[in-house]
Amino acid sequence: MTRPGSEDNPLRVAIIGAGPTGFYAAEHLFKQPQLNVQVDLYDRLPTPFGLVRGGVAPDHQKIKNVTRVYDRIASNPAFRFFGNVDFGTHLHLDDLRAHYHQILFATGAQTDRNLGIPGEDLDGSHSATAFVAWYNGHPDFRECRFDLSAEAVAVVGVGNVAVDVARILCRTTDELAETDIADYALDALRESKVRTVYMLGRRGLAQAAFTNPEIKELGEMPSTDVVVVPEEAQLDDVSRATLEREPDRMVQKKIEIVQNYAAAVAEGRARRLVLRFLVSPVEILGDENGRVRAIRLVRNELYEDEKGIVRCRPTGAYEEVPVQLVFRSVGYVGVPLPEVPFDERRGVIRNERGRVLEGDSGQPVTGLYAAGWIKRGATGVIGTNKPDAAETVDAMLEDLERGRTLAPVNPRPEQLEALLAERQPAYFTFSDWQRLDELETCSGAECGRPRVKFTSVEEMLEALGRNMIEAAPQEERREG
Ligand code: NAP
Repeated sequence: MTRPGSEDNPLRVAIIGAGPTGFYAAEHLFKQPQLNVQVDLYDRLPTPFGLVRGGVAPDHQKIKNVTRVYDRIASNPAFRFFGNVDFGTHLHLDDLRAHYHQILFATGAQTDRNLGIPGEDLDGSHSATAFVAWYNGHPDFRECRFDLSAEAVAVVGVGNVAVDVARILCRTTDELAETDIADYALDALRESKVRTVYMLGRRGLAQAAFTNPEIKELGEMPSTDVVVVPEEAQLDDVSRATLEREPDRMVQKKIEIVQNYAAAVAEGRARRLVLRFLVSPVEILGDENGRVRAIRLVRNELYEDEKGIVRCRPTGAYEEVPVQLVFRSVGYVGVPLPEVPFDERRGVIRNERGRVLEGDSGQPVTGLYAAGWIKRGATGVIGTNKPDAAETVDAMLEDLERGRTLAPVNPRPEQLEALLAERQPAYFTFSDWQRLDELETCSGAECGRPRVKFTSVEEMLEALGRNMIEAAPQEERREG
């Protein structure tokens, strides 16, 4: 047999995780001249596109147009999608090793960081990731409940996810009704009593993780006043010195936007979004029923550490802010995958430039790779994953060139389908997704929305006229 990637011996690649990174990796593989490659893309959800469907805020529809690029990649005859297939449940590492030369994990960062403070488990204290997944109709989160009878809400963190959460809480029902927000979330938010949303930054405005377009957009909401405590909008000495040493136009602009909010006179709109800086939560306080009633904050000051990073430390001055709901939005973190070496401290697969490394020896594990958030951590925007995926694919191609691949015993595409028919007959193909997409957008068109999402696997199967425990897929559903 000739080497993998040739005419009579296609390189067989499995990508686990059908978010942006998975698609960009497939694209980079397909772009290689002289490479005969077949890509199978898996996701544990029936639907592709990862955080573009389940993370990007519903009022940011334009960003979601990026899926047209993914549709084009999926139209390559050497591409197959297998949704509703869970790595670790339906397929194991040995199964993949028996069917593929290379296996790439692009599973993202599926959970959130904790604050590690008392009261975090009180009723009414949630992760922002759960709220985001809930309002975006993620099947695993549709049963979540958030008590929106709260009048005041604290969002801990000032990254772009915190901005998304704050914005969705502040938008009017009319604004949300034009989006693809999950129907049940729209109903719940219609009854919302939320009047004040606090976003809490532990460092100063110059260090805030949000980006300028996102923070500027907050001021464009018609029914919300954005409020900043004037003292917290002042630039402190440490930040001023850093900026003088290393001028940064983006940071200057960010400071200007926030200071403009501080200078503005509140117009008495229905809701208030209060941006706070230099405060850290030290405790979430509960009432006699174990429900959140307030958040206790400590005031911080900034200092530069030995590496020149601006950090914060508590001053000893405390305050209590009455809130009935808390969302912690302090970053996503990766979840370990069965049998794949994991760096617990960083929350990523142990890897070097995308090559998975053995825990003990630190040597590359033949045939295993990582890309995206599960490789580098939860940083950057969707587009950041394109060069990241390309870097990993380049490592895969180098290894292929050196003959370092797996040697699958069942390399034919139909052998994998036969296995899946046994293990998970309720798998979804890309044509299944295209049909769901059409149904969702048609329902949306009837009520002036981009789409009305299916939010459970059962609904999706039913819409396609399939049963949960059906036999192997029929011939006409097969792709590839
Ligand atoms: P992020 O950008 O890393 O922000 C995390 C925030 O949590 C920071 O403000 C951080 O403060 C704070 N934080 C961390 N630990 C804390 C603690 N113990 N106590 C108080 N605050 C704490 O994370 P993210 O908002 O989850 O976003 C993840 C990535 O997705 C980012 O790259 C983001 O830009 C991207 N994203 C982009 C968009 C968009 O483009 N519209 C939308 C959503 C997400 P420090 O800075 O002091 O650490």
